[in-house]
Amino acid sequence: MNCNVCKNKKIQLLNYFGKIPRSFDFKKKKTIKKYKFLLSQCNRCSIIQLEKNGGDQSFVPKLKWINNNEPDQHLSELISYLKKKLKEKKKILLISNFDKKIFESLKNYKNIKLLDHKKYLKILKKNPNQFLIQNSIIKKNYNKKIYNIGKFDIIVSCRVLEHTYNLNLFIKNLEFFLKPNGTLIFEIPDSQKSLKQGDVAMLWEEHPIYFTKNNFIRAFQILGYKILSYKKYLYPQEDALVFRIKKHDIGKMTKIKNLDTEIRLGELFVKKCKNKKKKLISFLKRETNKRKKIGIFGAGHRSIVYFHVNKLSPYISYIFDDNQNKKNLFFPGTNIRVKPSQTITKNRLDICFLSLSINKEKKVMRNLSKFNKNIKFYSISPDSKYAF
Ligand SMILES: [Zn+2]
Repeated sequence: MNCNVCKNKKIQLLNYFGKIPRSFDFKKKKTIKKYKFLLSQCNRCSIIQLEKNGGDQSFVPKLKWINNNEPDQHLSELISYLKKKLKEKKKILLISNFDKKIFESLKNYKNIKLLDHKKYLKILKKNPNQFLIQNSIIKKNYNKKIYNIGKFDIIVSCRVLEHTYNLNLFIKNLEFFLKPNGTLIFEIPDSQKSLKQGDVAMLWEEHPIYFTKNNFIRAFQILGYKILSYKKYLYPQEDALVFRIKKHDIGKMTKIKNLDTEIRLGELFVKKCKNKKKKLISFLKRETNKRKKIGIFGAGHRSIVYFHVNKLSPYISYIFDDNQNKKNLFFPGTNIRVKPSQTITKNRLDICFLSLSINKEKKVMRNLSKFNKNIKFYSISPDSKYAF
């Protein structure tokens, strides 16, 4: 496999994490397709990447209620920056429905445009996920109208870049809509903290790319860009990064100081994941020998990856989630049906792993303790106070 980003042929396999089902595969039947999770790292641009493991349509959920919710509370600063630029008569293009918050705040300006997916990208789905958006752009699966939208001073994209299966081509195709000397603005999740922590649940089949501040800078320099500015926004678990970049004059390339540290980050992540797995399994063995009943609250992509990578089926008997859509469907790749939390009382749970936003943990613990005040809680999020 060539590097997703810089097309380098020397890309190193970091680890094979086993076969994992897709996290939107909530079904009425038990048997579903699983995909290989191969994590690699490019030794040129240092980007950590998950290998594409399915056909073209394999990342498009059939269930209507599946939505990728992305955090957007930190976008206000970017919005005020763009507002200033709009007042200076700059033309701005937003590329997807993941930029909707920005668009809603600025749509009164005539010089801002949101690339409507139905009108321009030949996507008929109501709320397309990032896979579909990047796929249309990579393949130039456009309606003819798109060639009349003109060129822009600034192109903005939130939460799509880490979903691209060919970043190199994605950027080249976006450049078509950029004026010479124009700037690109990307908002992406920052994987650095989770990589350092060995948080295996951060891996997700819909994220082929895991950015850190340094590997982003390195990669885009190789692609011929210079970084105009970047900003990091802190969150309880996954931080966010906003980069403003521009094509650089030939010959200019700043050296990245910590390239070795970036390269070692991949190995460090795998090592930590393996150690954590050992610790977890010996704990679960001990507790199941004592006939303790163990469950997970939260059936999302984090708990699905956590469950399968750590091979938890011998130990976990219950999966709880209060999303009505998931009720009684099989937790992907297992024979455990997802149950609402009220059923905890009947099951007399002893240990409950939490897989949800850190800021909701306390509330959920309080609610679940009403059923059984002796439940022991452990969070699968390394930044939680209750982290395992
Ligand atoms: Zn590379």
